[in-house]
Amino acid sequence: MHVPDGGDPLAALAATTDLGVVAHPDDLELLLAAPVLACGDDPARSFCGVVVTNGAGSVRPAAMADLDETAFVAVRAAEQVAAADAARMGAVVLLGVPSDDVRSTGSQRRAVVDALAALVAACRPEVVHTHDPADAHRSHVAVATATVSALRGVPTADRPARLIGWEGWRDLGWAPGEHVVRGDLGGRVDDAVALARHHASQLGPKRYDAAVAGRWRANATFAAQREADDADALARGVDLSPLLDDAVDPTAFLADVVRSFADEVVAAVEGWW
Ligand SMILES: [Zn+2]
Repeated sequence: MHVPDGGDPLAALAATTDLGVVAHPDDLELLLAAPVLACGDDPARSFCGVVVTNGAGSVRPAAMADLDETAFVAVRAAEQVAAADAARMGAVVLLGVPSDDVRSTGSQRRAVVDALAALVAACRPEVVHTHDPADAHRSHVAVATATVSALRGVPTADRPARLIGWEGWRDLGWAPGEHVVRGDLGGRVDDAVALARHHASQLGPKRYDAAVAGRWRANATFAAQREADDADALARGVDLSPLLDDAVDPTAFLADVVRSFADEVVAAVEGWW
C-alpha cells in the first residue's frame, strides 16, 4: 500500500469516499479517470485505488522484452505509484496477485474476495468503482464479480450507496440509457491522458492513451442525437447499485439488462423487416 501524502495508512483508508477496484496497473487512470480526477480536485473527496493483479501478462514494448517477470512487475508497480502520486489519490493498494488467482474459482480467488472485503470495511466508501461486468477482458470480469462478492460479504452499514462498472474492453452500447452513468471529464482530457502516460510500459505497442481520449470525445457527441454536446469528453459506466441488495441476483440482473437491450433493438426494426 502506498499513501501519496505520506500519512498514516489506516487514516488514509478511513478517509476514502471513492474506492476503485480494478484488474491491472493502468486501469485506474485509463478507465476510472472521471472519479480519479474528480476526487483529486475536491478536498471533500478521497480516492483509494486497489489494483488486484500484478500485470505480468501484458503486451510489452520492445525495450522491456527481456525483463524477467519479477522485474517487469516491479516496473508496473512503480508506474502505478507514480500515477497515484500525480493524481493525488488518498491511497493505492497493489494486491499483486497473478491473474489466474482471481480468475480461478478456488481458494486463491476466495483470498482476493476476502482482501477486498477487508478493504471495503476499512474504507467504508460512499461509491465503489470497478469494471463493467460485461467487459470483454476476462480478468476485468473476474475483478468486477469479485468486487460484488466482497461488497455482499460486508455488513450493510459498511456498503457504499453506489456501485459503478466503467467501460473498458467493450463499450457500453449494450446498456440502455437508464442504466448508464456519465463520467464528465470536465474539460480535462489532457490531464487524464497525462496520468495514463505514467504507464509507459503499456503505451508502446498499444496506444491506450489515444484510444481512451477518442472514446471519451466520441461518447460526448454520440450521447444525444438532437441536442448540442453538453460536455467535451465523457467516460461511461453501468449503474450496478442494485447489486448492493442481497435480494437481487447479480447474474439475473445482468441478463435482464442485456435482454432489455435486445428488446430495444428488435422493437426498432420490427415493422420494417
Ligand atoms: Zn485492465
